[in-house]
Amino acid sequence: MSRRLVDVPALVARAREGDPRSVARLISLVEDDSPALREVMAGLAPHTGNALVVGITGAPGVGKSTSTSALVGALRRAGHRVGVLAIDPSSPFSGGALLGDRVRMGDHALDRDVYIRSMATRGHLGGLAWATPQAIRVLDAAGFDVVLVETVGVGQSEVDVAALADTTLVLLAPGMGDGIQAAKAGILEIGDVYVVNKADREGATSLRRDLRNALAMSERPEGAWKPPILLTSATTGEGVAEVVQAIERHRAWLEESGELVRRRTRRAREEVEAIALTALRERWTGRHERSELDAQAERVASGESDPYSAADALLASYAHEDG
Ligand code: GDP
Repeated sequence: MSRRLVDVPALVARAREGDPRSVARLISLVEDDSPALREVMAGLAPHTGNALVVGITGAPGVGKSTSTSALVGALRRAGHRVGVLAIDPSSPFSGGALLGDRVRMGDHALDRDVYIRSMATRGHLGGLAWATPQAIRVLDAAGFDVVLVETVGVGQSEVDVAALADTTLVLLAPGMGDGIQAAKAGILEIGDVYVVNKADREGATSLRRDLRNALAMSERPEGAWKPPILLTSATTGEGVAEVVQAIERHRAWLEESGELVRRRTRRAREEVEAIALTALRERWTGRHERSELDAQAERVASGESDPYSAADALLASYAHEDG
């Protein structure tokens, strides 16, 4: 496969003008772990920090996809430009926008102020933790002031959307045993906004009551955000405008309280750590046919060395290589 040269500054400039093909190309570079990524991220950095990242989480079937589509419409009506990343941690396939995106786009297909994209993350070292923040940066720099991050496919529980979001939406729905599962899955700690979807179904109000009681039991410090519990019918759009208002209120609170900076610093810390660890691992294991790690492993296995001394030797060889 011939490697096409990437004119990164031109691509970044076009993406910032809102050209959807350039945005798509940049996200593909992230998915492909392209060597051009360094330059891309350096080029994007000065234009990032404006987008509010909203994670949408909940058990399969609660209505995440339906709610995401409804939210896009409501956010547009409230004047936002909206990017959507549908993360599929179970699929190794990449290659850009999938058929599902076009279906999901629905009413938004011709709207330049909406960009929807699926991403496969299984092939990546560090999966979601590594690739998703980079794709978020692309959308942020392209001027989308709200980026919705939703997980699709199986294995969703493994994916910690909350860790990379400014605002986490936790979806529940009646008739799914969620009332009990809620506490178990630890969702009582992660939600900034709780949405009881399928409000048209029996059990929605009692689920909201149970959730309210459960949330009331957790202690919150003075001045802490009090997560609202909203009822929606994603299929009809009922209650979705109120979710947008809650997202906007939460953003205001994040800024006033200083929590926005704290959350973003924490997120950046994990990102930098993940990149650095990946680089270290590649140095030790990937570069030579028989790496220093292999050599140390053989010494430990034969009793010539012990694991601690071997680890020290490995770190020392790395420092030596650098210096
Ligand atoms: P996801 O797996 O969480 O992404 O859930 P989907 O968005 O695919 O929705 C699962 C099913 O629930 C679909 O058949 C939706 O049409 C249905 N659904 C979503 N929202 C509602 C709602 O508000 N009311 C009702 N009755 N059904 C809904």
